[in-house]
Amino acid sequence: MGENVQTRIKNLLAKKTVGSLVQVAGWIRTRRDTGGFSFLEVNDGSCLANIQVIADGSLANYEAEIRKLSAGCSVMVEGTLQASPAKGQDVEILAAEVVVVGWADPEHYPLQKKRHSFEFLREISHLRPRTNALGAVARVRSRMSYAVHTFFQERGFCQVHTPIITTSDCEGAGEMFQLTAMETSLKGEEAGPQDFFGRKAGLTVSGQLQAEVYALALGNVYTFGPTFRAENSNTSRHLAEFWMIEPEMAFCDLRGNMRIAEDLLKYLLNDVITHCPDDMDLFDRFIEKGLLAKLRGVMEQDFAHITYTEAVDRLLQAQKKFEFQVRWGVDLQSEHERYLTEEVFLRPLIVTDYPATIKPFYMRVNDDGRTVAAMDILVPGIGEIIGGSQREERLDVLTARMATAGINTADYAWYLDLRRYGTVPHAGFGLGFERLIQFVSGMANIRETIPFPRTPGFAPC
Ligand code: ATP
Ligand code: MN
Repeated sequence: MGENVQTRIKNLLAKKTVGSLVQVAGWIRTRRDTGGFSFLEVNDGSCLANIQVIADGSLANYEAEIRKLSAGCSVMVEGTLQASPAKGQDVEILAAEVVVVGWADPEHYPLQKKRHSFEFLREISHLRPRTNALGAVARVRSRMSYAVHTFFQERGFCQVHTPIITTSDCEGAGEMFQLTAMETSLKGEEAGPQDFFGRKAGLTVSGQLQAEVYALALGNVYTFGPTFRAENSNTSRHLAEFWMIEPEMAFCDLRGNMRIAEDLLKYLLNDVITHCPDDMDLFDRFIEKGLLAKLRGVMEQDFAHITYTEAVDRLLQAQKKFEFQVRWGVDLQSEHERYLTEEVFLRPLIVTDYPATIKPFYMRVNDDGRTVAAMDILVPGIGEIIGGSQREERLDVLTARMATAGINTADYAWYLDLRRYGTVPHAGFGLGFERLIQFVSGMANIRETIPFPRTPGFAPC
């Protein structure tokens, strides 16, 4: 068993060719001994299910090794697939050989049979994918990433790799991590001219501005990459490093933008429910009861629509006490967003036309002169999952807004050129990939949706 010859448990359970010789390689979850033989539960990460291996006392290494196996040990097993008399499994392997590949001292292996808290598991992010829940998240995440590409590629969108290192620092999306190649005490503007790029640089907070460049050449484009925000918000919905899906469409207005966003969300939910049934069932039973019914409901209904102004009216009329009082002109807080989607509309809600003063300079100014063609999509349990807008395509309006915002137009000459030469109405949005995984898995904290979470004061491995 040198090359990669082992059968994946997922395929094996799908085919179930009883009587055939199979090889499985994975990690022991449990071992149980009964009168002269042992039951080994082996998991290889291909799916949620373990395969039961029956190791008979007549195996050469039975006493010396097999009876010492414990959770976390790695093994390679060869044997015959047979119908299983046990409840809850159709097949099992009658082992002809069990090779112990790596031991895991039971005195020190941190994953025991009992359920561990997610907080504890975060402290061992190098071992937590070996648990049922975090393994399921990893598989669902992979499938959803694939589905994102399928959705856009099937619709003729071109994927653009926007830069991770950026020099446009006022994209209006929060704090940027600064990047330096200098050993110095100089910071920011001071360090800029002497630093690697000859100006202040940092990690991107969004690929949008660069995606606009490509949309105004290729039509429909999307980016799907990591973004970074140095905001000190220690919440269950914020990470310092997260992944964002950002489509940008030329010759498209806010309505077209909302259409694509709703189609995308429904497509992704349908895809994951269809292709990850066991993992989704685990979430439904142990992470959020009623999750699948909730997601199906989202897929079947049209999203609700409301303007920001109407939303503020609704909130002012609400019988509920909010921590932050709402009034026209201030941004909605998470508690307001969740009240609207969870208690008023009971489904995803698209809020449009926010005050210009609370939204970034690139959003298109509406005819009323005081709101912009923005849209946020709010979902139950999370609040904002998507933020987007139609972009300002008129050079004079855009430069006026930049002046108001105190942005130096010289730094954005390239961005303004897009309005100077062949400008078109265009629109796009950002979907936070981890918020999406949070929504489909029911995980209470976003830190469980990314393999290695980064938050203020936390980046262990
Ligand atoms: P919020 O108000 O929830 O902090 P935002 O308005 O700052 O979000 P945008 O700049 O509109 O977020 O980013 C687009 C999307 O990216 C959001 O709708 C959300 O899904 C996701 N997102 C934003 N910030 C974070 C973060 N710190 N961690 C994870 N996802 C995020
Ligand atoms: Mn937003």
